[in-house]
Amino acid sequence: MKILNTILGAAAFATAGVIASAAFAQTYPTRSITMVVPFAAGGPTDTVARLVAESMSKDLGQQIIVENVGGAGGTLGAGRVANADADGYTVLLHHIGMATSATLYRKLPYDTLNAFEYVGLVTDVPMTVVARKDLDVKDFKGLVEYAKANSDKVTVANAGIGAASHLCGMLFMSAIETPLVTVPYKGTGPAMTDLLGGQVDIMCDQTTNTTKQIQGGTIKAYAVTSPERLAIFKDIPTVAEEGMPAMQVGIWHGIYTPKGTPAEANERLSKALQVALKDPNIASRFAELGTLPSPETDGTPAALKAKLESEIARWEPVIKAAGQYAD
Ligand code: ASP
Repeated sequence: MKILNTILGAAAFATAGVIASAAFAQTYPTRSITMVVPFAAGGPTDTVARLVAESMSKDLGQQIIVENVGGAGGTLGAGRVANADADGYTVLLHHIGMATSATLYRKLPYDTLNAFEYVGLVTDVPMTVVARKDLDVKDFKGLVEYAKANSDKVTVANAGIGAASHLCGMLFMSAIETPLVTVPYKGTGPAMTDLLGGQVDIMCDQTTNTTKQIQGGTIKAYAVTSPERLAIFKDIPTVAEEGMPAMQVGIWHGIYTPKGTPAEANERLSKALQVALKDPNIASRFAELGTLPSPETDGTPAALKAKLESEIARWEPVIKAAGQYAD
């Protein structure tokens, strides 16, 4: 009898669980969602997040509010989301730094592969190697010569160790076998302000942040990190053309939720992301900034999980060989 009661009890518990999750799936989301961007406002990750959040909000029928939690190359914001309530109302939009920080930091306040659930991939953005407008250097080769000759005073801005700008700067220094002076910011939004003001010399940043400035002639551009030249910058050579194929890097972005977030919430968010990825308004705004939305089929938890795992494996040996650590 006791066994029968236990079985009936377990069955009732399971049924209640199914009903509760079906009810959750039908009503979620019932209030606004916070999207943490782990870099300062006005930078490239922020720009991508705000465009995608606006489109996803329309599909979800609830607002996604972007919150900038910059610092420590994106790891502060990621840590905030890792510790947030796993209720579907806090999400993280992060880039390749999610993968590289797993090696760059020997100790992180979260376990990258076990602290998050996955929603999907958002976009892949090339980087540009840029400098302040009055840097007296004509081309990429000149930049390399100048950096080598002035290594103790050439300053390279980045968004902290673990950021995409840090990775790209590290690849540059490793390719020219010369360490330069790095200047960390909470994001490349504020770093761009200083590059425009001439307080720093060089930066490597996503086209999302540099396109308008390059087109306006307010900064100089020397190379792109994509395998091919970009349609919007036909006259800017690729790093491979400049003899530095090891600097090739694409900055992918993904959306995560804290571990334990109900699968129904991740699936709903993923569906809204897929709608955003097909949104013609997003496609045209991204195109103006030299980027493309991820294909709709990559706006899924499985695609982001596979990407994160493969990128951790890809960058681990590169970072270890460069011997660069944050701690
Ligand atoms: N793009 C920057 C980086 O990773 C971060 C930011 O969005 O500000 O360096």
